[in-house]
Amino acid sequence: CGIIGYVGESAAQSRLVTGLQKLEYRGYDSAGIALVDDALSVYKQVGLVGDLDLPADSPQTCGIGHTRWSTHGKPTDANAHPHTDCTGRVAVVHNGIVGNYDDLRAELPDHEFRSETDTEVVAHLVEVELEFTDDLVAAVSAAVERIEGSYALGVVAAGHDGIVVARRNSPLVVGHGSDGNFVASDVTPLLEHTREVSYLEDGDVAHVTRDGVAVRHDGASVERAVHRIEWNA
Ligand code: GLU
Repeated sequence: CGIIGYVGESAAQSRLVTGLQKLEYRGYDSAGIALVDDALSVYKQVGLVGDLDLPADSPQTCGIGHTRWSTHGKPTDANAHPHTDCTGRVAVVHNGIVGNYDDLRAELPDHEFRSETDTEVVAHLVEVELEFTDDLVAAVSAAVERIEGSYALGVVAAGHDGIVVARRNSPLVVGHGSDGNFVASDVTPLLEHTREVSYLEDGDVAHVTRDGVAVRHDGASVERAVHRIEWNA
């Protein structure tokens, strides 16, 4: 339902939490965040963003967050996003529906699934691709080729720089901040940090790092215009 991501010079945890609180108007049944550096930490549960059981403060400067409005699988702690792979090194947040998740799960008989969601299979698809490449952008690009349905995706992986996002029929916007960069499912959580935003287009896969945003479409680098938001939320 709602996605937020941050990578920059500041601690990510409070930015993700306040971002998710700005997305609460969309409604949701569960919430969670993933923080990443050389390791991955995931905190998620049914209920309000403010009720998340989080460390007092976490040093990581990169992470993703999600408010879930369940479509596949009841609202449970296990079904809350972010979802992880078997190695516990890849985390995924997702808005939309992976229509062919049943078929994709069947193609991964060796993988242990820990949720009932359509989303979890995406983490496992990325895991499989990371066996062949060290490049998280390439891994996510290959994974989304196998997905049918709609998605806005945010992916982080332990030991990999930044956030990889991808969209098809579900909105994603990048915020260009002064102490880092953001990604979100709409501009509302970005406005307190920046008014410079770029809207991703269907089929885009973008690598958001502290220094910038690199967007790819059909395997080629593309530029997405930077817009200035003049209105107030
Ligand atoms: N289909 C996913 C789920 O049920 C994502 C739902 C959403 O957009 O929040 O977990």
